[in-house]
Amino acid sequence: MSTRIKFIGAVRTVTGSMHLISNDNSKILMDCGLFQGHREDYFKINSHFPFEPGDIDALILSHAHIDHSGNIPNLVKNGFKSRILTTSATRDLCSSMLPDSGHIQEEDIKYLNKINKRKGLPAKKPLYTRIDAEESLQYFDGHPYEQKVNIKDNISVTFYDAGHVLGSATPLLEIKDKNDTIRIAYAVDLGRQNIPILNDPVTPPDIDYMFLESTYGGRLHSPPLKTKETLAGIINSTVKRGGKIIIPSFALERTQEIVYYLNQLFNEKLVPELPVFVDSPLAVNLTEVFFRHPECYDEEMYNAFKSGDDPLGATRITYIKDVEKSKQLHKDSRPMIIISAAGMCEAGRILHHLKNNIENPANTILIVGYMAKNTLGRRIAERNQTVKIFGQPYNLKADVKIMNSFSAHADRNEIFEYVKPLKGSIKGIFIVHGEEEQSEKLYDLLKENNFPVHFPSPGDEIVLNGD
Ligand SMILES: [Zn+2]
Ligand SMILES: [Zn+2]
Repeated sequence: MSTRIKFIGAVRTVTGSMHLISNDNSKILMDCGLFQGHREDYFKINSHFPFEPGDIDALILSHAHIDHSGNIPNLVKNGFKSRILTTSATRDLCSSMLPDSGHIQEEDIKYLNKINKRKGLPAKKPLYTRIDAEESLQYFDGHPYEQKVNIKDNISVTFYDAGHVLGSATPLLEIKDKNDTIRIAYAVDLGRQNIPILNDPVTPPDIDYMFLESTYGGRLHSPPLKTKETLAGIINSTVKRGGKIIIPSFALERTQEIVYYLNQLFNEKLVPELPVFVDSPLAVNLTEVFFRHPECYDEEMYNAFKSGDDPLGATRITYIKDVEKSKQLHKDSRPMIIISAAGMCEAGRILHHLKNNIENPANTILIVGYMAKNTLGRRIAERNQTVKIFGQPYNLKADVKIMNSFSAHADRNEIFEYVKPLKGSIKGIFIVHGEEEQSEKLYDLLKENNFPVHFPSPGDEIVLNGD
């Protein structure tokens, strides 16, 4: 009755989180993330599951990010019919994020099929559609933090706050095998200490084994100090020039974090009152989920919320879903702040705002998130003189400012602090969710400090020992 782990996805890379924990009686899937990469790999990896989806007893979902949840609709399409156990906030976030992902899949395929048609190649089908995603929502089963949930005889899960995004968890899986109990913590992704809105990450008690993320396994973040002051400086100098501040932002967490800081700047009168627009239907839907889940807030946010302080600016900030209202912003020449998605400027309404504002030196484009190689966001961050938007060249004349102090991931030191108390008692740490170089650096650090650490490769299987 040995318990085994099969490392499937986000192993020696960052996206497509997925692992299988099984024994003779049960199969538990940990996350079902979308692998994001080149198109060919994307279809090959995401459309194939190295197990029978119909045989899975439960899926345990750590959080709503698409690299952890984004292949769920496809899993359901392929026969999965069990419960998807997660926190209540993650369930609610997924009910907007997965249909949005389905929509993106459909749009992507339309574009690809246009090219394929010209080349005389057959049309492709999307990985899943918006309807498939909506279908999959019926299997979600949301729970509060730190309450044990029974999956089946001898197997349970408890969600501990991971402090990464709203609702994020480090699930602790407990498996009784005859007289043994094995306790496995799943720490992908891990948040930072002292970031606004969220609690600091919690380490589950009495862990035997742990999956550990390593996104920043070899790097340190700049301290979150002076975030407010820097933001105020950027806003004030742009307003002096009579310009607009355009902020490309991820719809989940980063948008709400920026809004939280802006609200404080207004309250403390560090910047003049100017209109702020969150222009992204997904960001608006996700912000509504934040309002419904105060149980996920840290103390400061909770107190502000309870005392009616409106920390996410529901009254002050204009949240836009309607496309016509979005277009009206182009004609409005007042200084203003526009926060819009997609975060890396590859799609979405941000493209229209960039197109309309990028050639005016009075404006500022404020980069607050990671910009991957070969994205428009990266080209702007690198201050290319000319950038293409919707296939047309534009001169980048707006000021570009970059703030690196925002990150949702623990860095090398923070990860180390998180696992330090486990020394001497933990039986195994599995390094996952990182580019190889980052993972290796974390592996070396833990090895030097005498942790029983492993660095699995994709497809590896490992047998766990009980008490
Ligand atoms: Zn994440
Ligand atoms: Zn992740």
